[in-house]
Amino acid sequence: MLLEEILLANSRFVTEYGDLQKKYGPKPRKKVAIFTCMDTRLVEFLEQALGISRGDAKVIKNAGNRIREDCDDVIRSLAVAIYLLGVREILVIGHLHCGMSKLNTELLAERMKEFGIPEEEIDKDDLAAWMGSFSDTEENVVDAVDKIKSHRLIPRSIPVHGLIFCPDNGELQVLVNGYKQAK
Ligand code: ZN
Repeated sequence: MLLEEILLANSRFVTEYGDLQKKYGPKPRKKVAIFTCMDTRLVEFLEQALGISRGDAKVIKNAGNRIREDCDDVIRSLAVAIYLLGVREILVIGHLHCGMSKLNTELLAERMKEFGIPEEEIDKDDLAAWMGSFSDTEENVVDAVDKIKSHRLIPRSIPVHGLIFCPDNGELQVLVNGYKQAK
């Protein structure tokens, strides 16, 4: 069972590293928040590729680093990071080959049915909109940057950068340079 495997790994981990916990506080040393995708290929890869270590940054993830119109949970996390945890810069990082950029909503609806979700629940909303699927990875990053920058509770003085990451070679490309736009 996976949970047993994880608990075993955890007991080994605590024996080996437990005392190191005290070196780190909740405030990110680099005063940065990173909003990115939950993609598996970014785990233990994106941070290294950015030169970010434990204690350096707040990291917020969701499927497709998407901020939907009707859901500002990401903004909530960023607001806490800015006002209470000292964050002064934000990076929105999309990535190449993102599954959310070619989401098959028919397949998704089919799987939901297989898991016993009633059809009327599946059809209730526009499934693609609810999932926050998008067709253009770059546009999605720019959209998230714009939504963060223009939110009524996010200060205009915080630079918000938009970047695209390659999960194959780790290369980062700048789409939006937040220093040029911050006032
Ligand atoms: Zn992704």
